[in-house]
Amino acid sequence: MAKKANKDSDTKSYDILAIGAHPDDVEVGCGGLIPKSVAQGYTAAVAVFTKGEMGTGGTVEIREKETAKAAKILGADLIEVYDFGDTQLVDTYEKRMKVAELIRQVKPKIVLCPYPQNTSGRAQCHPDHIATGEITINAVGLARLAKFDCGLAPHHVDRVFHYFLPTGMAPSFVVDITDYFDTWKKSLKAHASQFQNPDKEGDYMFYMETMARTYGQMGRCKYAQGYFAFEPLMINDIMDLTVVKDTVIKRHSINKKDSANKKESRRHDPGY
Ligand SMILES: [Zn+2]
Repeated sequence: MAKKANKDSDTKSYDILAIGAHPDDVEVGCGGLIPKSVAQGYTAAVAVFTKGEMGTGGTVEIREKETAKAAKILGADLIEVYDFGDTQLVDTYEKRMKVAELIRQVKPKIVLCPYPQNTSGRAQCHPDHIATGEITINAVGLARLAKFDCGLAPHHVDRVFHYFLPTGMAPSFVVDITDYFDTWKKSLKAHASQFQNPDKEGDYMFYMETMARTYGQMGRCKYAQGYFAFEPLMINDIMDLTVVKDTVIKRHSINKKDSANKKESRRHDPGY
């Protein structure tokens, strides 16, 4: 695992920093978006706030290995696994400082983290997820303050987007992950103690696929992942919002290798 001690990690910057409370959160919420972004030429890093020691399946050691394996499948670097305490996460200034320091080290343009408010009971609102969203937003704010001195230059994150949206909440945008659906599933299965564990009840992979189909239906594609932005998305050219479909069609004609998948994706466009 590439930890903070790795000098390369200290100096390397990333386009995307995806943060999770537990070892499998980033894979669940961003496991299609990240490999897609990497294929588009962007760099991605993953940081996790707890070791997942309270999870029903697995141990800290097993989950550490699974996290490293899953990050590799996504094409991301696992740069930090904090020990903030599974089920004990609360937003404190000390944690904000640690995460702000990490943000200054890796200088992300976009930070992805769980939605920070509980509006639908337990469904997708584990208290650690909410706290992770809060800590991350506050760390992003701290990282830009000139007078916050941790020995690294201030860094302004352009955008913070949230995954793990409460049930029924409309995302601000969805990302078509149809071409990366298999990679996403592979990254989830890397967390075998969570998603392939006969001792755990529930068909988790079925729920994951249902979530991707739901967002896909919203986006008029087969599979998608959904994100929320508290701040409105700013654009310079309103026509930028019309190019997604054209881009998909153009990619169909120039990339024969996975054209079958893309045709599959288009077949699910209801066309309304
Ligand atoms: Zn979690």
